[in-house]
Amino acid sequence: MTQTTPAQALLNALDGVVTAVIDAAAIETDKLGQFPATSLAALRSAGLLGLISDASVGGAGGDMGHASRAVRRIAQSCPSTAMILAMHYSATAVIEKFGDETTRKAIAAGQHLSTLAFSEAGSRSHFWAPTSTARADGSGAVLDAAKSWVTAAGHADSYVWSSQPLAASGASSIWLMPRETAGLSTVAPFDGMGLRGNASSPVRAEGVRLPLTAMLGADGTGFDVMMGTVLPWFSVLNASGSVGMMDGAITRAAAHVNATRFAHLGTSIADLPTARAYIARAKIQADSAAVLLDDTIAAIAGARADAMLRVLQVKAHAAESAMQVTDLAMRVCGGAAFRKEVGVERLFRDARAASVMAPTSDVLYDFIGKATLGMDLF
Ligand SMILES: Cc1cc2nc3c(=O)[nH]c(=O)nc-3n(C[C@H](O)[C@H](O)[C@H](O)COP(=O)(O)OP(=O)(O)OC[C@H]3O[C@@H](n4cnc5c(N)ncnc54)[C@H](O)[C@@H]3O)c2cc1C
Repeated sequence: MTQTTPAQALLNALDGVVTAVIDAAAIETDKLGQFPATSLAALRSAGLLGLISDASVGGAGGDMGHASRAVRRIAQSCPSTAMILAMHYSATAVIEKFGDETTRKAIAAGQHLSTLAFSEAGSRSHFWAPTSTARADGSGAVLDAAKSWVTAAGHADSYVWSSQPLAASGASSIWLMPRETAGLSTVAPFDGMGLRGNASSPVRAEGVRLPLTAMLGADGTGFDVMMGTVLPWFSVLNASGSVGMMDGAITRAAAHVNATRFAHLGTSIADLPTARAYIARAKIQADSAAVLLDDTIAAIAGARADAMLRVLQVKAHAAESAMQVTDLAMRVCGGAAFRKEVGVERLFRDARAASVMAPTSDVLYDFIGKATLGMDLF
């Protein structure tokens, strides 16, 4: 008999957390645009924040596949919570490689939520080219930045933060920025169209002082950290969120079309061949993204030659598919879906974010086109 690993045990318990806590909080989270603190607390107590932390620091030692399944399951219920967790795991992957042991242990113990702070007002979605600065000052560094979007801003305990290099050449350096650092401010509350619980606010840094030990990786090597660590984790987990939203939309649409009847005909919406064809198209689209997601995780785990191509493809395909599938789910459920109670319109709004989260679908199309044509990506 195979033994259940600690990571698998956490995933086995996740379903209970979703049905007991996250499902109940999801609608209010969206309606009020409030950070899903109760859901995060439940994930924290269940050990899910430490899912991918190494066993040597007290974590569950899970891999990208475990993280993907967690994000996908939560996105079926509350995509805001799923995206916060996706950002936390993406940041954790960097901290696990380059971070200090105290922070790693805190994450493993569920006492520390982290996130990514890459996008900037200056370079916008081109996160690989920060315009924010870091300058040496005595034994430390002083950072100034206008970060345009930071998920869980003001709630995460730390930000994995990009800046121009301190002294080295290269596109960027990466830092671990504690939330309570003096000079850091969350600029405005987040009031978005979708993922309304994300708290994805701008964050400003004015004369923020950090010790040099807060740098993650060597000065000037931020681009390698972004492409080698962050991009695979973020693309896969962002796609996992999109796949989860498609699962959620199809389940809700199927329940509605099966249960909703035309009283004068004695038939249901599901009795309409057109409705069944829309459901079929949605299912094909969703499953193609799920299969690509599994293949991407396998390509990364096996260090396959096509792994980076898959990483670029999976986020774009899942994001675009999620927009199409949630649109089909809206259509097949009719006017009823325009109201809140069918539950599809929330996923329809939430699903739009992934395609404009960097690297955006359009940027990915350009990268994939260049890769296919044998051109340099940058
Ligand atoms: C809900 C949400 C949460 C987010 N959370 C975070 C976070 O936690 N951390 C973080 O760092 N960022 C985060 N972001 C920011 C995100 O990653 C992008 O940087 C941001 O959405 C880009 O918006 P923009 O208006 O700056 O786009 P712009 O860069 O102004 O792009 C405008 C349009 O131009 C297209 N475009 C731009 N460049 C190219 C190109 N070279 N080729 C083809 N088309 C191009 C884009 O695809 C887009 O359609 C979040 C965004 C959202 C929506």
